[in-house]
Amino acid sequence: MARPLIAHIDLDALRHNYRLAQELAPTSRSVAVLKADAYGHGAVACAKALEDLVPAFAVAAIEEAVTLRDAGITTPIVLLEGIFSADELPQVDALGLSMALHSDWQLEAVLAFAPRRPIPTWLKVDSGMHRLGYSPAAAEVAWQRLVAKPRCVTDLHLMSHFATADLADVGYFSRQHELVMALAERLGAPTCLANSPAVLAHPEAHGDCNRPGVMLYGSDPLELSCEASRRLHPVMSLTSKIIAVRELAQGEPVGYGGRFTTAGPSRIGVVACGYGDGYDRHAVDGTPVLVDGKPSRLAGKVSMDMMTVDLTDLPEAGIGSEVVLWGASRHGALLSVDDVARYCDTISYTLLTGVLPRVPRRYAGGPATSPVD
Ligand SMILES: *Cc1c(COP(=O)(O)O)cnc(C)c1O
Repeated sequence: MARPLIAHIDLDALRHNYRLAQELAPTSRSVAVLKADAYGHGAVACAKALEDLVPAFAVAAIEEAVTLRDAGITTPIVLLEGIFSADELPQVDALGLSMALHSDWQLEAVLAFAPRRPIPTWLKVDSGMHRLGYSPAAAEVAWQRLVAKPRCVTDLHLMSHFATADLADVGYFSRQHELVMALAERLGAPTCLANSPAVLAHPEAHGDCNRPGVMLYGSDPLELSCEASRRLHPVMSLTSKIIAVRELAQGEPVGYGGRFTTAGPSRIGVVACGYGDGYDRHAVDGTPVLVDGKPSRLAGKVSMDMMTVDLTDLPEAGIGSEVVLWGASRHGALLSVDDVARYCDTISYTLLTGVLPRVPRRYAGGPATSPVD
């Protein structure tokens, strides 16, 4: 028997979450973000599962776009950071890619390039994230230069990214939103603004396009979940099995450094999953797992290939019991990756993108099997 650790990917859940993004923003084009190998879910499989629904995909770099084109994906693809050097432009043109444009050197490069077809371009304005993008004043100048070159660029959008759309306090979000909307009005520009938290919680920020990412994978990015975010379905279920059980007396340390000590006579289960698989070593004692669908807790530091959980209150659990690290149990229970992330002092994004290649992905569902609705 093979090692039991598997990342199950539910492509019907992916489609459900994408449709939810569309339903929440019915007048926007929802561009599905597939960067970082679709947040660890497998970009090609996810693209094939969504291609009949989406107007476009978004990725972080041309290499990720090439992977999708090589797999036969013909849907438009946007490069969220644009080109990293001018010599990428012939490939952008040849592969029919779209791009963000955030800096003058990119602007000069694209205006000096003669593409076979004008390149669909999102001009990025820094409305307050202070990472990529033009200042609002510089964006006006750049926009006019792009508008004047319809043989180089087409389908111009004004793009911006929110720093705090996930927070309950909307103060800074509103400032960013007002700034970018005022600029869009002056330019008469279509907009592309909303990430997952804005799609879920800020309908006023739904633009001509939106850019949902993590919500497609079933994670709720909001500080305070809402009616819509509670309708998301988890896409990845990371599951393994108990491979050994220790009966220990009270006061025995477990694992490296003896961080966890048994409070009384205890049964400790050893799970085939560790940080060498991408499970976060920052997980504290008490981090939730499901054993045969019932709540259990991490007991001891995560090792490279294994971790230990407390089975004292689960007398029926033993070797071969199913362990869910996050996602859905075949017994019906759910453990949200967002809950696990809180115990690791991180966010779902790092846990999902962190699942390493040695963990096999197993896919179920998708367009061929989806119920028609
Ligand atoms: C990653 C990314 C997104 C998607 O963000 P989520 O929080 O995952 O929805 C949207 N826009 C840009 C520019 C990004 O880099």
